[in-house]
Amino acid sequence: MVDSVVRDQSLPKDDSVAALQCRTVVREYARGSASMFSSKADVPTVRALDEVSLSISTDEFVAIAGPSGSGKSTLLHLLAALDTPDRGTISVAGTDTASLSSRGRTALRRDTVGIVFQHFHLLPSLSARGNVALPLIERGVSKRARRDRAVELLEQVGLGDRATHKPGELSGGEQQRVAIARALVSDPAVLVADEPTGELDTETGHRVLDYVEETADGRAVVVATHDQHVIDRADRVVRLRDGRVVSDA
Ligand code: ADP
Repeated sequence: MVDSVVRDQSLPKDDSVAALQCRTVVREYARGSASMFSSKADVPTVRALDEVSLSISTDEFVAIAGPSGSGKSTLLHLLAALDTPDRGTISVAGTDTASLSSRGRTALRRDTVGIVFQHFHLLPSLSARGNVALPLIERGVSKRARRDRAVELLEQVGLGDRATHKPGELSGGEQQRVAIARALVSDPAVLVADEPTGELDTETGHRVLDYVEETADGRAVVVATHDQHVIDRADRVVRLRDGRVVSDA
């Protein structure tokens, strides 16, 4: 089977297509091990997302807020096509993620989604430049072009002079800026960040956010956060509680 990205035929194919769309999404997790129960149906579940509907346009900077356990990370994983819903649909750039095989979702992420994690997730053995260039290897970009593009991105996040440093030689804020550069190296339509300022002091968190905002033009940016500063700066704040959207403004 060819793992091409199948476009959602029900959506118009013009600029009005939402970058991200959730329709009545439900995601449940098993609570405890299946081996403790005689049948799969008996395994208790926790409903992390309960009928969530949401549409996010290109150019929107959206904060997903809510207390711990409200479903923020679960929603972000679904929007990044790292996971699929149990019910309802998630469309990323017009593609229903559940219509894809696992390889198809990998291709969708590679081509469409940049992801930033709280703990940076950089490879310690590679330089900042090597980390940023990494997603371009899968895309078949030549070594020279990868290097040039990685340096360009590092310059955009103010780290042009740190290109050859390894993550262990960089501060937390610098590592997170490398992670942002890596997430943006393929110019994705969607940038998803899970608590990107959670590990950083306030001042450094502000600077990291400056770079997220500066590079947000032309893409949808979705940030799950507890950080009031992120919430204050977002165009729109979606608040979750117990897996439900309780406000969206
Ligand atoms: P948040 O990011 O807002 O803290 P999460 O999306 O991590 O919320 O979690 C939502 C709910 O789902 C919580 O009750 C959490 O315990 C549960 N949950 C999250 N991930 C798992 C998992 N892998 N297995 C079981 N329960 C999970």
